[in-house]
Amino acid sequence: MGSSGDFPAMPRAAAQYLNPDKNLSFATLNLHPDLLRAIKELGFVRPTSIQADAIPPAMAGRDLLACAQTGSGKTAAFLLPILNQLIGTKRGTTRALIVTPTRELAAQIVEDLKDLATHTPVTGAAIFGGVGMGPQEHAFRSGVDVLVATPGRLLDHLKYSYASLDKIEYLVLDEADRMLDMGFLPEIRKILKRVPAKRQTLCFSATMPPPIAVLTREMLNDPARINLERQSTPATGITQAVYPVGAELKTALFLALLQRGDMQEALVFTRTKHRADRLTKALVKAGISADRIHGNRSQAQRTAALAGFKAGKTRVLVATDIVARGIDIEDLGHVVNFDVPAAPEDYVHRIGRTARAAATGDAFTLAAPNEEPDLRNIERVLGKRLPRVLIPDFDYTAKTDTALEIPLAERIAAIRARKSEDRARSKAKQARKGPSGPRADAPAGSRPSGQGSGAARSGPSRGGPARGGSRGGSGGNRGGSGGGRSR
Ligand code: ADP
Ligand code: MG
Repeated sequence: MGSSGDFPAMPRAAAQYLNPDKNLSFATLNLHPDLLRAIKELGFVRPTSIQADAIPPAMAGRDLLACAQTGSGKTAAFLLPILNQLIGTKRGTTRALIVTPTRELAAQIVEDLKDLATHTPVTGAAIFGGVGMGPQEHAFRSGVDVLVATPGRLLDHLKYSYASLDKIEYLVLDEADRMLDMGFLPEIRKILKRVPAKRQTLCFSATMPPPIAVLTREMLNDPARINLERQSTPATGITQAVYPVGAELKTALFLALLQRGDMQEALVFTRTKHRADRLTKALVKAGISADRIHGNRSQAQRTAALAGFKAGKTRVLVATDIVARGIDIEDLGHVVNFDVPAAPEDYVHRIGRTARAAATGDAFTLAAPNEEPDLRNIERVLGKRLPRVLIPDFDYTAKTDTALEIPLAERIAAIRARKSEDRARSKAKQARKGPSGPRADAPAGSRPSGQGSGAARSGPSRGGPARGGSRGGSGGNRGGSGGGRSR
């Protein structure tokens, strides 16, 4: 923690991200006094590096292409310049649009906005799926200053005449790499067509893979480039360890870790929704308070699960990687990869979240023998070998429990359902636009995604607008609901 002692009023951000220049304050960034007041009340003493680098060019009206790790303070880096420019404008016109991949992120950005704008008249609202369209329609109609939206639900609204992005002057793409991972590229292109060409665009991403480079070349105008990424190295202060274990003994081993007191609370990632459900059940059965969060759960359930965990009511939160990025859980001690992430970046992002609260975090990964190749890829990206740890009293030869495996018949049925859904979708797409290229969606095969993936992923223009009818409660699979791929 070192220098964090200098900043008693900084409970949240990772001290490591603070700009090293101690003379640099928010005041030197020429921000409006009403924003400075809110910043002070939030306990932000100095800008983080990304904030120090991004705010000046953004305030000068330049486009921005910024690459920085999770937890580095990107939200305020784009909100502050936008708020600063909006303070003096007249209310009643939506001038800023922030596009972000998940509902949770949209909700959190609006929270951050409300905190930062608390002494200003600037307003913001979230637009995401899984909840009624009505209040969101109101946000469009009343011309809320800043909309924070997930791509699918935003396009749902854009089918109606009340929703216009004609007056947008500031566009932010937050977590651009994640949106691409989630297959949102076509949606983003559609959104880009609906905002004025003359605008300021700020693009934030944790990584800069080639497709983002291509997109940004089209989308940005001579951007200021900010790169704070030490190519995918996790935050310092994280203790990482691998627990080799047979696939069928993972639940038992995880329970042993909890029972030994190796971790008080844990955010646990599983490969699939199904495994998340089963693991949660097993934990509860063993008397450990646990909840789960993934793409098949309603927004209310997701919110409640996250809140319960944040409040310390649940000891274990099991998740698929929808919450791996961006969601800020303070003082989180432990991240457990119940399964080895197939993509090394996912590993880095997941464990990145433990170090964001200035506390040190631990990141444990349970690795079955067949996951060793993925683990080696991760180690290659990290540039080091992770220590393997065996628990002394654990019976590594115990009889298997196959509790987490999905019965074969169920799995086959799920694959069938997905296939036929895919076929129907591509047929519908064909009918709609004639022969065009395949969607840039991450193919189902690129990551192991449990059964039924894609179920919540019906595109925005499917299932006609049916004025009025599709608002409110038309049930589960509302088109393009913001959560995107149901992982
Ligand atoms: P990112 O979007 O880069 O992942 P966030 O914007 O969510 O990161 O910020 C991470 C955490 O750091 C949040 O809790 C936020 O309130 C806090 N934070 C942001 N900027 C500062 C700052 N200058 N000083 C202290 N804490 C900060
Ligand atoms: Mg963020």
